[in-house]
Amino acid sequence: MTEINAKLDGELDDLAFDREHIWHPYTSMTNPLPTFKVKKAFGSTIELDDGRQLIDGMSSWWCTIHGYNHPELNQAVTDQLQNMSHIMFGGFSHDPAIQLGKLLLQITPPSLDKIFYADSGSVAVEVALKMAVQYWTSLGKQDKTNFVTPRSGYHGDTWNAMSVCDPVTGMHQIFGSSLPNRIFVPAPQVAFDAAWDQEDIHELENTLATQHESIAALIIEPIVQGAGGMRFYHPEYLRQAKLLCEKYGVLLIFDEIATGFGRTGKLFAWEHAQVEPDIMCMGKGLTGGYMTLSATLTTKHIAETISRGEAGVFMHGPTFMANPLACAVAAKSTELLISGDWQSNIQRIETQLRTALTPLQSLEYVHEVRVLGAIGVVELTFNVDMKTLQQEFVRRGIWVRPFGKLVYVMPPYVISTQELKTLLEQLVEVVVQMQEPAV
Ligand code: PMP
Repeated sequence: MTEINAKLDGELDDLAFDREHIWHPYTSMTNPLPTFKVKKAFGSTIELDDGRQLIDGMSSWWCTIHGYNHPELNQAVTDQLQNMSHIMFGGFSHDPAIQLGKLLLQITPPSLDKIFYADSGSVAVEVALKMAVQYWTSLGKQDKTNFVTPRSGYHGDTWNAMSVCDPVTGMHQIFGSSLPNRIFVPAPQVAFDAAWDQEDIHELENTLATQHESIAALIIEPIVQGAGGMRFYHPEYLRQAKLLCEKYGVLLIFDEIATGFGRTGKLFAWEHAQVEPDIMCMGKGLTGGYMTLSATLTTKHIAETISRGEAGVFMHGPTFMANPLACAVAAKSTELLISGDWQSNIQRIETQLRTALTPLQSLEYVHEVRVLGAIGVVELTFNVDMKTLQQEFVRRGIWVRPFGKLVYVMPPYVISTQELKTLLEQLVEVVVQMQEPAV
């Protein structure tokens, strides 16, 4: 009792307590970045404890595609709550999982047929990597256990997901040799809408030609490399990669965790290239940002091969697999998306992003402005001072969270034209007033 009370220092106000005791993503416990206490959020508005309202430019990291506090999503959760919030998935199934599964098969590549529900994006990636290895071992190819991946990728924070992140920009280089050693090829260089250059695929081709006997799969974020640099690359890279994977007997895994559910202007980014992967991961926008849930989909052939292998089963089964609350809200969110006019919303956002952000290109310290679908990126020539910039954005009533050299936005699809206009005006003003740090 006394020990507990000693920890709960009554003198600390809430934010001081938070700062003292609660870890935030990628932050220090001795010198944390400031946090802002949120009271509520609705539509594209985030309301802070002190009443200030911010226009949301981040969709809580790609997730809240329909905005916050959506009446129909709230209702889906409330309805499901009356039946059960959770039930173990071993030995049981339920309507939300089945209903969501039917929807997912409608919107994913035709060859994907089997669904594994997991807890988060990183776990979906772990599941995909395990599927690839179990597939090959089931075929007696015990040596095919490694993975190849382009640099500048990002696939999550768990151990194996980390191992396929870019060793430098992926934020995990600190773990050094404790991570499994993966095979990296250069990041795709040809931009999404530039002229294709066959040279871009050369290193991947060489690597697969010489090392395919040890490689289970190529894992890649299709079209948009997200947290590893917000880079948009040419669809031909994926078409060529698919051909090479087929030629050399290597599975192709698409990590659509960030790109899924309309964000790039297609429902999923594979559609830009019309290339079907063998395994596909989704998460983030899956539940409309309501709670954590992910899914890894694969083909009938891969699932059946795994099931005929020595183990006879796929070796994964999380406690909260197919959580009914999460599946119910995911089914409603997916239904809302595909029955609504998401494409014109994304086009509207894309046009506004282009119009507002492109002029920043003329600034000396702006390396590049990139826009694709509902993603707008301003890449600077220097690392931003995140603390100062974040506070300035909040002071101006917008929520934008830059990292490294990147100031970027990916707003909820429901953001109004006026809200987006204000968000971008404020963002642009801040970038224009920036000072390049003295070297
Ligand atoms: N893959 C990609 C492409 C991602 O962007 C992320 C999250 N940033 C992940 C995987 C990991 O997802 P989660 O944070 O839900 O574990």
